[in-house]
Amino acid sequence: MSANPVKSMDEIMSLCKRRGFVYPASEIYGGINGFWDYGPLGAQLKKNLRDAWWQDVVMNPCWGRSGPDGNPVEIVPLDSCIIQNPKVWEASGHVGGFNDPMIDCRETKARYRADHVRAVSGKGKRHEAPVFAFIKDSPAEAKQRKAADKKFGDEQEEFDLIELGTDFAHVLGPDAKELGTLTPPRAFNLMFKTYIGATATEDDIAYLRPETAQGIFVHFKNVIDTTRVGVPFGIAQTGKAFRNEVTPRNFTFRSREFEQMEIEFFCHPDQAKDWYAFWRDWRMEWWKSLGLAGDNLILREHDRDELAHYAKEGAGTSDVEYRFPFTAPGFGELEGIAHRTDFDLRQHAEHSGLGDKLKYFDSTRGEPAPNGQPKGEKYFPHVIEPSAGLDRGVLAALCEAFTPDPERPSGVYMKFHPRLSPIKAAVFPLVKKDGMPEKAATLASALRKKFGHLGAIEMDEKQSIGKRYARMDEAGCPFCFTIDSDTLTDDTVTVRHRDTLAQERVAMDAVPAFLGEKLGV
Ligand code: ATP
Repeated sequence: MSANPVKSMDEIMSLCKRRGFVYPASEIYGGINGFWDYGPLGAQLKKNLRDAWWQDVVMNPCWGRSGPDGNPVEIVPLDSCIIQNPKVWEASGHVGGFNDPMIDCRETKARYRADHVRAVSGKGKRHEAPVFAFIKDSPAEAKQRKAADKKFGDEQEEFDLIELGTDFAHVLGPDAKELGTLTPPRAFNLMFKTYIGATATEDDIAYLRPETAQGIFVHFKNVIDTTRVGVPFGIAQTGKAFRNEVTPRNFTFRSREFEQMEIEFFCHPDQAKDWYAFWRDWRMEWWKSLGLAGDNLILREHDRDELAHYAKEGAGTSDVEYRFPFTAPGFGELEGIAHRTDFDLRQHAEHSGLGDKLKYFDSTRGEPAPNGQPKGEKYFPHVIEPSAGLDRGVLAALCEAFTPDPERPSGVYMKFHPRLSPIKAAVFPLVKKDGMPEKAATLASALRKKFGHLGAIEMDEKQSIGKRYARMDEAGCPFCFTIDSDTLTDDTVTVRHRDTLAQERVAMDAVPAFLGEKLGV
């Protein structure tokens, strides 16, 4: 067995459903493709990840580290609307350019993102039938590869379908039986449209935001004018974003409604390179600190030709990527860290008509005036954007935590980092008599008072103790405290450690301190 065996996505999804982490949205009506809801455990897990981000990004930026300029990193929060004036999306380029070229299959009615379709042909025979097309990591991939192997043996060539242009007459679609059923790629705007007001005419069109970032850019000046921050500083927000993804798939990884955690960090253009490296490295460390360590997490610097047009001039773009079971042996993006140059602020300066008024006046820069003080400099700050997906982070945490263990009654346990565990501790009376439930209730209540803001403290007296442990293993609860007959005489409880299954006895009044130390609070 390799050090890192690929886990079964079906088993992870089944546990998520069974234990109330994730449910299909609108399930009793047959669900709705690309939308997922979080159950009681999932909602708390997601909140814990969002809270960890908020704490480490906004309340105690970068764990109190200094930035490359030697000063503490400054970040302020924001909470902007999902619906903005549509001009925001014209300026950002989303109305004109937020398009994924999309290919339909006339035979199966399936729809594919053109840049997701790979193809296999005979060597030098890309323009002859048959060319086998497939989506990477889909069931069709294995089928098409098998057919290609049979047809071409070693004399084969693999490429992106889109390299063929628009004529797919000789191509066998990923799920098709006949040749030539794929349509040419067509642009498809990913923004969800809605109407404001009652008349619902073209003039009333508005969009659900496809990213939280633009809500930050449009308030750059407000934040400067109403707070004490000055460049370099960042604005951070978390919130829902919506994209009408052509092919939502892989559980919550590509959803149509999801949540982002974004920072726009404004700095002087001369410092952009240093701040880019700083954020890239710290963001990677942050994900590691939550238990996504080891070979499953990588930092990948984009090749030059992958970069967005505005980023070509910049210091670069990197992704923090996780090896999900459905991407293995490859990786999927958790967070992108991009040097966006001054593209967004310039766009908003132009489209809003504010022009140079959106520039930042930096009194610490510029030539010295006769009084010896700098004259100041006006400029559009450059932006480093660490943009993370909360739902993808939750999915990575779920996949990483999922640990099969045939020795346990549950057959599996969820090894969450204690900071993320939705249930921080469970308290069990061994039996429902002799005053044990009352003692358990007293302990649970004391723990809730102290740790309730971090997650749930479960109190459970149903079923056998073995079944209760098994339930907590699947919920990923790191510590279970059991009140038994000894407790009644010596006021100690049994602590069961989730990961090692070790059990020890602790004085009941020492439990809060014990748990606090383990949770690192
Ligand atoms: P992808 O290439 O996977 O479509 P992207 O590069 O378009 O992602 P960004 O626009 O950089 O993504 O968005 C920032 C983050 O938002 C991503 O790193 C990801 O974690 C999250 N995200 C983007 N699209 C989705 C989606 N459809 N479902 C869930 N999370 C998403």
